[in-house]
Amino acid sequence: MNILLLGSGGREHALAWKIAASPLTDRLYCAPGNAGIAQEAECVALDLADHAAVIGFCKDRQIDFVVVGPEAPLCAGIVDDLEAAGIKAFGPTKFAAQIEGSKGFTKDLCRANKIPTAAYERFTAAAPAKDYIRARGAPIVVKADGLAAGKGVVVAATIEEALQAVDMMFEGGHGDAGAEVVIEEFLTGEEASFFALCDGATAIPLATAQDHKRVNDGDQGPNTGGMGAYSPAPIMTDAMNARVMHEIILPTLRAMAAMGAPYKGVLYAGLMLTAEGPKLIEYNARFGDPECQVLMLRLMSDLVPALIAARDGVLKNFDLRWYPEVALTVVMAAKGYPGTYARGTVIEGLAEAAAVEGVEIFHAGTRAERGQILANGGRVLNICALGGTVAEAQARAYAAVDRIRWADGFCRRDIGWRAVARERES
Ligand code: AMP
Repeated sequence: MNILLLGSGGREHALAWKIAASPLTDRLYCAPGNAGIAQEAECVALDLADHAAVIGFCKDRQIDFVVVGPEAPLCAGIVDDLEAAGIKAFGPTKFAAQIEGSKGFTKDLCRANKIPTAAYERFTAAAPAKDYIRARGAPIVVKADGLAAGKGVVVAATIEEALQAVDMMFEGGHGDAGAEVVIEEFLTGEEASFFALCDGATAIPLATAQDHKRVNDGDQGPNTGGMGAYSPAPIMTDAMNARVMHEIILPTLRAMAAMGAPYKGVLYAGLMLTAEGPKLIEYNARFGDPECQVLMLRLMSDLVPALIAARDGVLKNFDLRWYPEVALTVVMAAKGYPGTYARGTVIEGLAEAAAVEGVEIFHAGTRAERGQILANGGRVLNICALGGTVAEAQARAYAAVDRIRWADGFCRRDIGWRAVARERES
């Protein structure tokens, strides 16, 4: 098969690595890709917002299957357009991708189907939103309805902070994404991610993972796209996984199918494990980044037939196998991230780092120039490792990090700390 992968981050590098390893893959292209993906696929400079150009490329190169990595093209309807042109594509339709593209859509779906989630209301104007905040008190959470590159959520410790967030969003702080706002109850507990591969009717749970969203050690500082992750997530016991499937994932699939919009693709549930049980924080319509990287390291089965079965609606009798080892990834980011940062700084030592036992390096934001690898984004590298324990995977990942010479980069030094502590206790 000729396969086209869309995207350019660490998630797509991990997907490219797995897709390239499939005996079903003849040629793998990635648009736009990055310097790491170029080792696995032929990178092509397509504008993903230009669906006609993507379709034209697929016809030209006889692409049999398109795998969409990021959410923006899904929410823009690229799967609908590809399928309408006769090209098979993995991922939800534009309507189904609202599960990520509109927080209000998902909250209403939860309310209508009794799926556990934080209590909430939707607002299209500041004054009633502020009344609601004053009535509910703090802490409280203010969210832009639409896609805001992971930055549309303000967890407000005080009423004042929540009111300011409302003003910021309605004044266009997140552009159109903030034209509508969801205000919701603050949930306490431990967060975990749950991934399921869906074919419209059937959901197959993928391995569990946990990520670290805050930029600093000890889970402090501003939220980011994710500074590290590990799989499995020890907090996700078999009993908890079964609850999440029955209380959250399967009712969602049934509800989407009943709306005439069966959900196909990866359904990624961000969960809060509260004292009352698991509650949905949000859905994403694709693999998490950096969780995808640790999942791909642990996936023993061929990914390509699984993605095709999801698209074709035949997951019912499908089975995925996983390596029992722990996978952990440390994100190396450009200094300043998640604020402003420099691009174009030189990274060295990648080959030495990749030589550490059990280590695999995925590029998140790099480009190659005159034989050098340059940083080309906020999150730049994923230093991943497999190990027999979380502690071993963590030690291997940091041994590799320490071989990388990049003066303008930084990373957290404590990825996996909760799981390492649990491991020590047991
Ligand atoms: P989201 O983009 O919806 O995943 O939110 C980003 C982060 O904000 C989550 O990973 C949580 O840490 C936090 N968050 C979102 N909603 C809530 C909530 N209702 N209660 C507590 N924390 C939340």
